[in-house]
Amino acid sequence: MSPTRPAASDLALTSPIESVPGVGPKRGEAFRRLGIPSVAHLIDHLPHRHEFEQGEDQIANLVVGQVGTATGRISAARVVPHGRKRFEAVLMDDMGGRLDLTWFGATYLARKITPGARLRVNGKLQRRGPLIQMVNPGWEFAEDDETESAESRLRPVYPASEDLPSKQIEKAVRAALPRVVHLLEDHLSEPFRRERSLPSLADAYRMLHRVDDAGVDKREAEAEVREARRRLTYDELLLLQLGVCMRKARLRNTLKAPELPWSETIDQRIRARIPFTLTQGQEAVVKDLAADLQRPFPANRLIQGDVGAGKTVVALYAMLMAVAAGHQAAMLAPTEVLAEQHYASLQSMLEGSKVRIELLTGSASSADRASIQARLASGDIDIVVGTHALLTGSVEFDNLAVVVIDEQHRFGVEQRAALRGKSGSEDSMPHTVVMTATPIPRTLAMTVFGDLDTSLLTGRPGGRSPVTTHWVVPSQSDEVYRSMRARIERGEQAFVVLPVIEGGDGEVGLRGVCSTAARLAEGPLAGCRVAELHGQMKRIDRERVMDDFRHHRTDVLVATTIIEVGVDVPNATMMVIDHAERFGLAQLHQLRGRVGRGEKEGVCVLIGEAITDEAAQRLRTIASVTDGFRLAEEDLRLRGMGEIFGTRQAGMNPFRLARFPEDTELLLMARRDAASWIDSSPELSKPEEQLIHRRLLKRHGEMLGLGDVA
Ligand code: ADP
Ligand code: MG
Repeated sequence: MSPTRPAASDLALTSPIESVPGVGPKRGEAFRRLGIPSVAHLIDHLPHRHEFEQGEDQIANLVVGQVGTATGRISAARVVPHGRKRFEAVLMDDMGGRLDLTWFGATYLARKITPGARLRVNGKLQRRGPLIQMVNPGWEFAEDDETESAESRLRPVYPASEDLPSKQIEKAVRAALPRVVHLLEDHLSEPFRRERSLPSLADAYRMLHRVDDAGVDKREAEAEVREARRRLTYDELLLLQLGVCMRKARLRNTLKAPELPWSETIDQRIRARIPFTLTQGQEAVVKDLAADLQRPFPANRLIQGDVGAGKTVVALYAMLMAVAAGHQAAMLAPTEVLAEQHYASLQSMLEGSKVRIELLTGSASSADRASIQARLASGDIDIVVGTHALLTGSVEFDNLAVVVIDEQHRFGVEQRAALRGKSGSEDSMPHTVVMTATPIPRTLAMTVFGDLDTSLLTGRPGGRSPVTTHWVVPSQSDEVYRSMRARIERGEQAFVVLPVIEGGDGEVGLRGVCSTAARLAEGPLAGCRVAELHGQMKRIDRERVMDDFRHHRTDVLVATTIIEVGVDVPNATMMVIDHAERFGLAQLHQLRGRVGRGEKEGVCVLIGEAITDEAAQRLRTIASVTDGFRLAEEDLRLRGMGEIFGTRQAGMNPFRLARFPEDTELLLMARRDAASWIDSSPELSKPEEQLIHRRLLKRHGEMLGLGDVA
């Protein structure tokens, strides 16, 4: 709310984009399509890079398949009157680059675009035999002197579109920013900024957009861009950290959770249920958990432990603390297969005890479901294991105290928020324990998951050695299956994983589960007991197949990634992953964690082709790196943050500017600043904090579930 309305001729931040000089209705439309409806959006449309004028418009710098701009002189032009009528021209730049231009239907252009004309064109570059071309590019006449005068200016390059080239955006920014820059309020005080050597928000925008660059030399210009970027990146990180710290403070200060008692006796009773001695790593995590659960506010702990580190019993310990206190516990898994598996192993550990445990997944019959729901609501079930279905509103608990979420990366913050109120009263929440075998890189763990306390589950039970991994090409697969056969003859078992159920059913040319199972059973593994497992099978059939494999009634399980998480058969020592080039690093690591879980050493063979450089790099990396944490960092580097969150969790990648690992130092600074800020002002409710509070809620309120109280 600005106190005075700006005069009609003045530009305001909220002014529509069409009020910027030079932006008419048609260009305005193009801006809107790029997500820029107003002046404020324009100012916030940040350049993704900067470059010096020279060479920017060179044809040699264009990339096939991408939209680009080139400037040059027309060396030839003609109308092609037959076939699809078109106008063709050849553009040559000063460096001797050649670009062919074709406009379909637009033969009238022949009158305007004549040889000798200087033109700037914008469009998607395509290959055309040995040449390159643009079809129906946008174009404008370029003045002869333009390039010379602006020679070494550092220019912003904006995310652009085919009908709105970067230069047009730059023009609009230069027209608008100087007139509104005094309206940009800073949410950081002068002293706060000075202490951290950060420029003001207005200066940062001015420097990043390069609007007053007269007399600034090259080095200076680059330094300004760095300074501006540092301020805006810091802002981005600080806002998220403030949100995360605020959420954490709120959990502590305003929400209650059942205080679960702990004593030597309870500890001994719980340990009696665990069929082995805990590893040192497990002991340490159990200690963290026992401390968490005794507190009167909801724990929010992330347990990171590589595959096979032994997370399940740690979860059991936490759940039994709830049961010992007369409360309920729930365990959520990302897939039915995994839920079934957890249920089976928990049930066997709890055999002979009074603990009542049930399985509730999406494929439960409606009668079963109704009965389980009734008993959950009345408190006649102590532990329930299930999938996401457990989070739906219709499931009520009598007094839920502990929720264990396995394989965190599939659960967002929102789902965790859905647990609120499940423990009986509105301001109370169960303790949440999240377990992940996909290690979250340190940098990431401090961001979106920043409200979680973290425990590392280190080491492996029984001093098992990591799985040896080899990468081979498809022509070597006979040899691979021969060695699998040898293992089977020694009494061991094996997995074969494929990306699709049936070759030819989706993507042509891919080997699939069914055809591979048939081929192996007839050929390389004739005489061995080969079974199939995939998600299109009925649950009862899947259970039977898993059960047969677990009890060694079959030798080889040919499956989709349905076995990715949790499947635990110690006698399985070999895994073959076919079409390995199709899987991500995290997934490959998860998959290979399914072998080498017993006394015998595990081996994983990746059959894959280096279809892209990135695929080759991935396969080489997974074969040489066994440590899940290093892999996770590598994954982050190869794919970037957005990819890791994936499209299914759209909106989860909170970063527009920050890049990791480059901005780690800035992140640490933002985290320290946010923590002490929230410590002294947990709700950011001081008058001078109004602006930052508002911006914080706008940016992250929904994702962090902060909006509801504001
Ligand atoms: P993950 O961390 O991948 O979930 P699990 O909990 O499935 O690992 O444990 C892997 C295997 O190790 C299981 O077979 C489990 O029974 C066994 N295990 C776990 N803890 C111990 C231990 N302290 N001593 C011996 N075996 C253990
Ligand atoms: Mg597990």
